Amino acid sequence: MSAGGQAAALDQKIGSGLKDRTKQALGDEFLRKAVAYTTDKLKTGRLQAMDMFGDWEAWRDRGKAIREHTINHLDYYLSQFADNVTKKGGNVYFCNGSSDAVSTFMEIADKQKAKLVAKGKSMVSEEIHLNHHLEQRNIEAIETDLGEYILQLAKETPSHLIIPAIHKNKQQIATLFTEASGQHFEPETKVLAEYARKKLRNYFLESDIGLTGCNFGVAETGSVTLVENEGNGRMVSTLPKVHVVVMGMERLVPTMEDLEVVLNMLARSATGQKLTTYTSLVTGPKRPEDLDGPEELHVIILDNGRSQQLGDPIFQEVLHCIRCAACLNVCPVYRHVGGHTYGTTYSGPIGAVLTPLIQQDMKEAGTLSYASSLCGACYEACPMKIPLHDMLVHLRHRKVKMKLTALPERIAFKSYQTVFGNITLFKLATKMGYYMQKPLVRGGMIKSGPPPISGWTQSRFLPMLPKKSFRDRWGDLQKELAAKNTAGARAKGGHAK
Ligand code: SF4
Repeated sequence: MSAGGQAAALDQKIGSGLKDRTKQALGDEFLRKAVAYTTDKLKTGRLQAMDMFGDWEAWRDRGKAIREHTINHLDYYLSQFADNVTKKGGNVYFCNGSSDAVSTFMEIADKQKAKLVAKGKSMVSEEIHLNHHLEQRNIEAIETDLGEYILQLAKETPSHLIIPAIHKNKQQIATLFTEASGQHFEPETKVLAEYARKKLRNYFLESDIGLTGCNFGVAETGSVTLVENEGNGRMVSTLPKVHVVVMGMERLVPTMEDLEVVLNMLARSATGQKLTTYTSLVTGPKRPEDLDGPEELHVIILDNGRSQQLGDPIFQEVLHCIRCAACLNVCPVYRHVGGHTYGTTYSGPIGAVLTPLIQQDMKEAGTLSYASSLCGACYEACPMKIPLHDMLVHLRHRKVKMKLTALPERIAFKSYQTVFGNITLFKLATKMGYYMQKPLVRGGMIKSGPPPISGWTQSRFLPMLPKKSFRDRWGDLQKELAAKNTAGARAKGGHAK
């Protein structure tokens, strides 16, 4: 199955397949080590870069203010951006959903009679499963970001926002390259990178269309900003005759001054760099005086559920995200299971919030809100101060209100609410619990038991309920103290006589 096909299939069972994918990931020791190793490196790099940058909290406030202002006035800035792209000679298309964006791209491709598309890194193209649709139209799409290229050979989807092949090692990559080329490769980084570089160079030159994402669109100039470390984004946006940008509607900043702030924060939060190796600003297609550049520039702006969040007091802030992946790198859940476990394009805490919102699917995608310990590490790491942990709680609440949780769970929580809301029932339940647990207790602990207890005891022990509840012991203590005080007062009275 193609990567796009795989992703489309996965999207349908985001929630119902979550447990199986989690078990699979937890059983893959290599994956866990690889993900933990790289996310640790990224996290350390981010912390060092933040230290060197000065008052990071002040930068966070500034970044948040820029994004908040932009999203609060998104209609204005979208229109300004579109006007400026058009003035500079580009074409802009506003697309409501995935299928609109795919058809728009196909229309452009048909006009070019395109047979080959060179792709720079673009999560939005993953979101709309563009590769899958191109394959169906017999248009070859080649991923030119090294990580994405590796995954394309492996027929997999990205498992991290910025390091898509985070779960693969050199040996696995050497095997993939050997299978793809028929030539033997040793697992040496330099050799593997050299092969990919040579192989991809031809695609840049031969492609009919270059496709990229957009890290930030600048409204005042109509520029598309591309941030990367490999140079492939620059090649894809300059060598083919046609450059198509696919971007989420929220990825704007008003001015170049604002761009400077968010670029500084993006690179530091993502990889710990001051700036990425290549930061390209594409402003319109090639002008007569330019030495290179595409003859046509098309910008596809995708809504796909984003505008539904505008005006929402809880979820609008999710549109402030700059896709730095800092929240993934610190998330204890992501670090244990990696991105494929989430079963969707966007993984980690941001994916768990964004996916149900943009897909407007609480039944399957809403289940991702449980893939979190709610520790708040994502909020601490987020350069834009997005309270993802609060949003996850609100999503769980939404799922409960829509009665989308399992019936046994609903009954359990209803009973819990009834017992905890009535002191007589509570006392009775704790007394009964003490006697009912007895067959399961070994050495003061419950080490195994039937479901749902087994869900807990599979990975840790459950302390037994004590014979006397805290409330009983507190009552006894109060009585003891009262008795001591009375005895003391009597003694004092006797002495005075
Ligand atoms: S939510 Fe914050 S930390 Fe996570 S990717 Fe977006 S900006 Fe980065």
